[in-house]
Amino acid sequence: MAALNTRVDAMTLRFGLLGGSLPHTLSPQIHNTLFDARMLNAIYLSFPVTADVLPSAMEVLRQNFSGFNVTIPYKEAVLPYLDELSELASACGAVNTIVVGERGDLVGHNTDGEGLLSALTEAFLPSSDAEVLLLGAGGTARVAAHMLLGRGCSLTLAVRTPEKGEALREALAAHQKDGGRRIRVTRIEDLPYEEDRYDLLVNTTPVGMYPHGDTSPVPEGVVARCEGVFDAVYNPPETQLMSLANALDIKCAGGFGMLFHQAVEAQRLWFGKAPQAKVLRELRRDLATLV
Ligand code: NAP
Repeated sequence: MAALNTRVDAMTLRFGLLGGSLPHTLSPQIHNTLFDARMLNAIYLSFPVTADVLPSAMEVLRQNFSGFNVTIPYKEAVLPYLDELSELASACGAVNTIVVGERGDLVGHNTDGEGLLSALTEAFLPSSDAEVLLLGAGGTARVAAHMLLGRGCSLTLAVRTPEKGEALREALAAHQKDGGRRIRVTRIEDLPYEEDRYDLLVNTTPVGMYPHGDTSPVPEGVVARCEGVFDAVYNPPETQLMSLANALDIKCAGGFGMLFHQAVEAQRLWFGKAPQAKVLRELRRDLATLV
């Protein structure tokens, strides 16, 4: 790889990740590896900022950057600074990717949904009438629910806080022609129900994430009722939930694919086209070893 002092110059396009605390983020490695593979004169850095400087950080990014990602805790907080929102970002009320236009206008997108669908396509895309058990009611659950409902799936939202589950159900129902008949809410601790079977379980809670890798959001009895398991958690690469699925011979996938594909989708938005599929397959395999 070329040394930084020859690779980075006055024309280098700047991209970055705006978030709170970012010591473990893999986004710089993923994006810079993609830039190198595409031979783009671009660089990606992480920008942890405190909430009090968010307004000035947004102005600096607007004036100096071509695009950036946004992560916890600013996915909703950046909305007032944006000039335009994609349909999904608007429906979800959250943004993870911003494109800076030539005149400094900021367009917000949410690429987590595409990331999830691409990762599921690689692993086991649920059929359009699948029954999905979705764990969690936070930002990732909201995006996942929009994408899965958009495919025609039915959802059981299994949540820790019933009021949050109900609020999510109502917000999702407002975008559904059938008024949300395909969405029901239950308490995660009440699972499993004897009669229930699911085509897919999607975990969007942080349960099982490093350094709490020995915990699962649901017990074996729930996993056994599912045909496939997708865990949005990507560190560790095999979560306790995935271990339970593997032991039961149930197909499963972890969150690294989603992380990788949301980054690829962000680059498609920034540059107008995605890297070639063959390049992506190789990079994805190499980058997975980072986790
Ligand atoms: P979030 O907005 O904070 O939502 C987390 C949800 O999990 C909330 O509904 C919360 O319940 C629930 N929860 C937390 N602890 C729980 C527990 N012990 N039992 C049951 N439910 C619990 O977080 P997020 O942004 O959606 O992120 C969630 C996870 O997805 C994180 O691990 C993140 O790393 C991962 N993620 C992965 C990718 C990827 O590309 N692979 C992308 C985005 C996020 P309450 O509603 O009761 O608070």
